[in-house]
Amino acid sequence: MKRTATMALVVLASVSCGTQHQTATPATATTVPVDATTAPAATPSPTPTPSASPTGPPPFSAKVTRISRDRLPYSWRPGCPVGYRDLRLVSLTYWGFDDKPHTGELVVRSSVTDDIVTVFRKLYGWRWPIKQMKLVDAYKGSDFDSIDADNTSAFNCRPATGSSNWSNHAYGIAIDVNPRENPYVTSDGHTEHQNAKKFTKRPTKGKGVINPGDKVVKAFAQVGWEWGGYWAGTKDFQHFSKGGG
Ligand SMILES: [Zn+2]
Repeated sequence: MKRTATMALVVLASVSCGTQHQTATPATATTVPVDATTAPAATPSPTPTPSASPTGPPPFSAKVTRISRDRLPYSWRPGCPVGYRDLRLVSLTYWGFDDKPHTGELVVRSSVTDDIVTVFRKLYGWRWPIKQMKLVDAYKGSDFDSIDADNTSAFNCRPATGSSNWSNHAYGIAIDVNPRENPYVTSDGHTEHQNAKKFTKRPTKGKGVINPGDKVVKAFAQVGWEWGGYWAGTKDFQHFSKGGG
């Protein structure tokens, strides 16, 4: 009995040891592929890259294509001031809040795609962080929901905030960048977004925040896009538009 018990214990011990060893191996192996998911995009090297010394991020890339109407189920409709055939889909690399490269999508008017690519190439080169970049259609065209999700987006066929006139977003010549960190603030300091309340004053520090005179503001200015943070009274810190407004 005793002998059997000892044997059993030995077996158990060896099993448990083996189990321990085996759990350790997959755990390490899991860590490597997780890190490697970004690595192959950067380098097609088959050697797993240790997370401590990652290879450089991929270079900036941008692709401009025509956009089909079914990609804009909420943001475009007949009667909008720009036909969807005059809009373009820009897929480009941006640097995330997670310190990793991502591909985002923007829709702008065909006449300003070069402006956008020029600016976002610079932002990526500076590793200037952007929270996320999806078409506003991901939020069923809701400007409020897109802003609440801190989504950077451009085209949206809607009136200007607090107005019956079309916004420059409806012409595809305006963009909102990191809207949570850069809220629309009324002259009395109010924002509609609870999660943006700590970002209503300028200058302020924080990831993805745009302050007066920042290189981001200058990069847009160099291609003729004005910043809503310079407006008198109401400030729209997220907003850049070609020619202002
Ligand atoms: Zn805007």
